[in-house]
Amino acid sequence: MITIDKFNFAGKKVFVRVDFNVPLDANFNITDDTRIRAALPTLKKILTDGGSPIIASHLGRPKGVEDKYSLKHILAHISELLGVDVQFANDCVGEEAAVKAASLQAGEALLLENLRFYAEEEGKPRGLKEDATDDEKAAAKKAVKESQKEFTKKLASFADVYVNDAFGTAHRAHASTALIADLFDESNKLFGYLLQNEVDAVEKIMKEPARPFTAIIGGSKVSSKIDVIENLLSKVDYLIIGGGMAFTFEKAAGGKIGNSLCEDDKLDLAREIVIKAKANNVKLVLSTDAKLGDAFSNDANSKYAEANNIPDGWSGFDIGPKGEAEFSDVIQASKTILWNGPVGVFEFDNFAHGTEAIAKAIAKATEAGAFSLVGGGDSVAAVNKFNLADKVSYVSTGGGALLEFIEGKVLPGVKAIRGY
Ligand code: AMP
Repeated sequence: MITIDKFNFAGKKVFVRVDFNVPLDANFNITDDTRIRAALPTLKKILTDGGSPIIASHLGRPKGVEDKYSLKHILAHISELLGVDVQFANDCVGEEAAVKAASLQAGEALLLENLRFYAEEEGKPRGLKEDATDDEKAAAKKAVKESQKEFTKKLASFADVYVNDAFGTAHRAHASTALIADLFDESNKLFGYLLQNEVDAVEKIMKEPARPFTAIIGGSKVSSKIDVIENLLSKVDYLIIGGGMAFTFEKAAGGKIGNSLCEDDKLDLAREIVIKAKANNVKLVLSTDAKLGDAFSNDANSKYAEANNIPDGWSGFDIGPKGEAEFSDVIQASKTILWNGPVGVFEFDNFAHGTEAIAKAIAKATEAGAFSLVGGGDSVAAVNKFNLADKVSYVSTGGGALLEFIEGKVLPGVKAIRGY
């Protein structure tokens, strides 16, 4: 596979799939442009080489053409960040896009309208009646899969080269993220810098981690992280479990958890994880204590207790000082660290101390030479909140894509380019 730094885009039209699915306020102002900035190195490389990027993305979850999901709202900001006047096609396929793409000169860029204005992008039928029969559903699915081929061909016809730089959608086998790659030969499809960096960071920790390797998995539910935990059990030396999901483990071990979050249907699963961890020689680390609140609010009354002895009427919303020390000791002795999910309700300052302590411990370990990867919306928000994003080795832009990659799944967007 060719890498982007070795590729010369001079004179080439380049279809670049990016993830510009940025949050907008009611006046269409971008409230967080991280995703746009993340793709700038790739777009700038193409422009500087003398190529012409044809930029394609989705925005939101439109059901068809919906003005509020138009990429025209973010055009000016993209132009500003790129330092060129980016042109715009009101439709991602069709005559206008074709003409504008064809007339692009070296160093000029074109932004296509939202790919998901077409059901063909995702390949899922739209507008099915609620009472549609199975036959009707199957026919609609077949029809959209058929028209998806034409849609994909049209997108590919604009360009000489395909670049995927959209890690956030790399776990989707959509027209522009995966299928389109088949229409370019080996020497004309490649990862953008962002996708390459994401793949390298995850593979560095999952394939050849320096040891000890510690994963910190937090967040609200065991059920949403179970596949991640399962896969990590054959990779890590330490598995720290924090956040709401820790209380399912406490209860499974016979603890008293008061009103803390708990998935009662996952108690057996939690016990199985404990057994499997032992069998694999993985040290499972739970916080000894918890910071409790008597209501889900920043202004709740709070106190500390042992995490397995929480009185009724109280919930564990954060780890306590003992847990902070326990987790930090493990983290600081580690050479590879993966963090996904906060260890408390960090959105409330009153219950953010534990998550901040984890972020700081990871920053310290990184300074001492460990490789640290932080990913998943909430942990990224946490490192940003505590101004520690530049103190960890890598902050992933992927949510679902990152989780699936850590689960050990092959990502369609990655496979489409490099074959695995
Ligand atoms: P997830 O989306 O599963 O990664 O969960 C992230 C959310 O879990 C964050 O919004 C946290 O506020 C929440 N969370 C973390 N710890 C707890 C806890 N002990 N009790 C309730 N919610 C929690």
